[in-house]
Amino acid sequence: MSTVIETRKRKKGKEKGVTSVPRSRQVETAAERNGKAGNVASAVETIKAKQRRRSNGVKQGPPTTASTVDVTSPTKPKAHAKRIREERVGVKVEELQRVSKEEKVEELQTISKTKEWKLLYMPYPFDDKMKFTPPGASAVTTEKEIEAYKGLCLTCEKDETCTTVRPEGGVWRCEEYEQRTTTLESLARKRSVYENVARQFAKAAELMDLDPNIRAILSRTTNEAVINFPVKMDDSKIMMFTGYRVQHCNLLGPFKGGLRFHPSVDLDEIRALAMWMTWKSAIVDIPFGGAKGGIQMDPSKYSTEELERITRRFTFALGNNIGPEYDIPAPDVNTNPQIMAWILDTYLSTVPPQERQRCMHVVTGKPVESGGSLGREKATGQGIVFLLEEWAREHEFDLKHATFMVQGFGNVGSWAARLLKRLGAKLIAVEDASGALINTKDIDPDDLAGYASFNKGLVGGYPKAQPIDRETFLKTKVDIFIPAALENQITAETAPWLNVRLVAEGANGPTDPEGDAILQERGIDVIPDILCNSGGVIVSYFEWLQNKRSELWELEEVDCKLLKRLISAYQKVRETAREHNTDWRTAAYIVALSRLEVAYKKRGIFP
Ligand code: NAD
Repeated sequence: MSTVIETRKRKKGKEKGVTSVPRSRQVETAAERNGKAGNVASAVETIKAKQRRRSNGVKQGPPTTASTVDVTSPTKPKAHAKRIREERVGVKVEELQRVSKEEKVEELQTISKTKEWKLLYMPYPFDDKMKFTPPGASAVTTEKEIEAYKGLCLTCEKDETCTTVRPEGGVWRCEEYEQRTTTLESLARKRSVYENVARQFAKAAELMDLDPNIRAILSRTTNEAVINFPVKMDDSKIMMFTGYRVQHCNLLGPFKGGLRFHPSVDLDEIRALAMWMTWKSAIVDIPFGGAKGGIQMDPSKYSTEELERITRRFTFALGNNIGPEYDIPAPDVNTNPQIMAWILDTYLSTVPPQERQRCMHVVTGKPVESGGSLGREKATGQGIVFLLEEWAREHEFDLKHATFMVQGFGNVGSWAARLLKRLGAKLIAVEDASGALINTKDIDPDDLAGYASFNKGLVGGYPKAQPIDRETFLKTKVDIFIPAALENQITAETAPWLNVRLVAEGANGPTDPEGDAILQERGIDVIPDILCNSGGVIVSYFEWLQNKRSELWELEEVDCKLLKRLISAYQKVRETAREHNTDWRTAAYIVALSRLEVAYKKRGIFP
């Protein structure tokens, strides 16, 4: 049964207590009211043409671009913002507003009927009919729409009511605009993540001839919680946040999956990540199901105290949607042991004191001092390195003289790099959110990790390597590439650039199906994410077991058990790939789906 909890809509920057309609809804209602055709771009063009005619052939200079306008000393922010908008689009705001409102509505409506939109908002990836679901709050997603937005919304289009306009990055923006564009750009970047998981699943299901009933069950999530919750900021203002928890499948054990704090987080991303968790746990044969959660926000914008309040309030709001025997969160992008400790503490505060000790396993990835496991912090990176060693043995490849590059230098990327260095391999290039770096001799990952720890976790500005652009980074010749950041990095555009022998996927979903096909064509090996980064969930399982038994295992014991499970999964995937004459990703899916199919068939469906 699907559960959707919708509370209040987030309205950042609104202080007047006025209940305003979300922009997407404004778009729909305005469009219902009138049926004018046209689009913003053509409206702007028409007005400009009129102006040119009026000016009687006198050639006008190009409109001043936002970046050339001096915005450093705004004495009257609203008037200033208005003038900049006029200069940017080359027409008076009043004139633009008069013609643009309905026409913009019409254009968005037209774009919303495109195929991409349908794919993005298809409720579940495997519906034959691909039924179109009108989007909720996220009304604008295509590049064209984002462009239209950028052209018109230097601020939020509400000059009279906007109180948050301020200069940033050379242009004027208000909080609403800033928040919206960040989300929109993220959406555009990752629009196919959910589609990717659907296509991967479908390919494996076809090849293994998965029972159609089981296919139908696994193609949907079980529960989806969307929670809007208020948090008091340091300046005493209240901000609304949106958090998600999606539970895909708990056939093999309790729901299990990380929590991500990132502006790109939305229901579609979390659904895809929850599904990947189900396959992952099944491949490495641990008794967990799949889930994922997150909060749509950029944690770098908040103080530690604010982050703590956001985390605790979200945990409280999740209530019984999580629990030690029901659904167990863990760290993911921008979350860490400290955040897990806050979740633990908040959850324990909601249960009677006598029961607290037996609820320690409500979350994994905790600090060791608060019930965490030795070896959990490095587990995902360690798992990647164990698998690389196995791959090297199989291919008689000498890791001691290997070169590699890492995308993402957070928990997964930095640990993988540091542990690979211990085997003699050399880190040549690295990229994170702050940019990319290269040193053809080598970069010391331990030194870089030390630098990043004093640089907000970022590698930008590291003095012992040269900055390079993204394309140069991806074209760097190395033996091994470890993507350990976000989804959709290896695509039809970037896969041909790679000059590597092996891709070891530390991130979830770094390669889209088009990129995958190109890698196969080019003979580049791939250790797929659902196998490659499973070290994290395996050691989370060990932590869960230790908490249940009130034990603390030695690091050697944890590493030894992790290695055993990973090698066994690696061999199973290799056999399956040979048996079905298919790629490793599809083989990994087949291993997972076979286990789930057998379990469903044995248990049957109630009633
Ligand atoms: P993290 O927050 O510790 O690190 C993320 C890294 O990615 C940071 O270095 C960040 O700067 C970088 N990054 C962000 N945007 C980027 C961009 N556009 N280009 C390049 N780099 C960018 O997160 P993490 O825990 O290391 O997770 C990384 C990936 O591994 C995610 O896909 C996550 O789902 C996956 N994963 C994590 C774990 C785990 O145990 N933490 C387990 C399995 C899979």
